[in-house]
Amino acid sequence: MTSSPPAPDSDLQSPSGGGHLPDTAAPGSQAALRRANRRRVVDTVRSQGAVTQARIARETALAPSTVSSIVKELTACDLLAVEPDHGGRRGQRVRFSASAGYLVGVDVGHRHVEVALADLNLEIRARRRSELPAGHRAQDVLAEVRETCSDLRASLGIAPDRVLHAGLTLPAPVDAQRRALDSDAILPRWAGTDVRALAARLLDCPVVVENDANAGAVSEHALGAGRGVADMAYLKVAHGVGAGLILGGRLYRGASGSAGEIGHITLDEGAGLCRCGNRGCLETFVCAPAVLDLVRTSGQHAGTVADVVATALQGDPGCRRVVADTGRVLGSAVAQLCNLLNPELVVLGGELGQAGDLVLDPMMEAVDRYSLHGDTRLRIVPSELGAGAHLMGALILARSESSLPV
Ligand SMILES: [Zn+2]
Repeated sequence: MTSSPPAPDSDLQSPSGGGHLPDTAAPGSQAALRRANRRRVVDTVRSQGAVTQARIARETALAPSTVSSIVKELTACDLLAVEPDHGGRRGQRVRFSASAGYLVGVDVGHRHVEVALADLNLEIRARRRSELPAGHRAQDVLAEVRETCSDLRASLGIAPDRVLHAGLTLPAPVDAQRRALDSDAILPRWAGTDVRALAARLLDCPVVVENDANAGAVSEHALGAGRGVADMAYLKVAHGVGAGLILGGRLYRGASGSAGEIGHITLDEGAGLCRCGNRGCLETFVCAPAVLDLVRTSGQHAGTVADVVATALQGDPGCRRVVADTGRVLGSAVAQLCNLLNPELVVLGGELGQAGDLVLDPMMEAVDRYSLHGDTRLRIVPSELGAGAHLMGALILARSESSLPV
């Protein structure tokens, strides 16, 4: 074997036959080089989704002929598939084969859990959502997730070993190893549990655990309102309030994984107690129970924030005022975020975002008032992925961590 440094496009030999990929190779050998090149092609499809061979060649700096040869080889093994490009441009797009493997996404909220089974193209084949009791326990929820996964797999005729990886999101900070909760203040009955290990054992596949707002940021950045944006924040407003930060095009988790806990910045030391133990956190003013309380005092009854938003959109003055006030409080917190990080975009997730200008205009006014010189470049927009943002983030993270047979 030659020891000269391998040129990226030096391997032009034909694939040695469909369906077989050598899984061991001496370092520096032709086989090792070809395997490294296969990995680069697959990683491009993994990060970009359906993509032309020309684009793969540009991204990987491999010769088009090498890309073409590798795509043929991986298509023969049923890892990749080639489809016509419907965008009207010449060429075909390369994506994962629909049967190359499957991913599980799990979104755990304060009062719900949703489980999805998707293929490697992130197309959800089956999903199920169920309500959870307040103060749920990790063991109980994960046992339910296991049952749901098993049902979803059975309904699609997918064997257990075809599930390659799972992603699980939690409405609380997750530690730097993406293993367990970083704090016992939120979801106390999940604290102290090695969530990643327990979920991996129950689901019988590797698992990545992530904070739900971080997952929302990842999905909106990859597929939603934040496509192509380098610096953005995703704001989750639900039972709890959190932010996921994308800085320089990458998720920013901070030193211990708890970056973006905007829900617990102090707005008023003299205000009500927060579940974190402090007083007057942002969350105590804008979380779903707080919004519903405000509506109740105006004489309306609403069961969910979605009801409040729908009533506001129909013109009810009490609900409109509650939505606007909530937007103003959120905006004052976003102004602090802007002073610190100067994002280009803030994506408002959760049901509140569906109120459109009723919530976004007061938010923007508060940002203008409280941020340094007003932030003229900042845009605030509703989530494009809506209620599925966290689940899709879980699937994206699972795909990015999955070990593919390359
Ligand atoms: Zn708090």
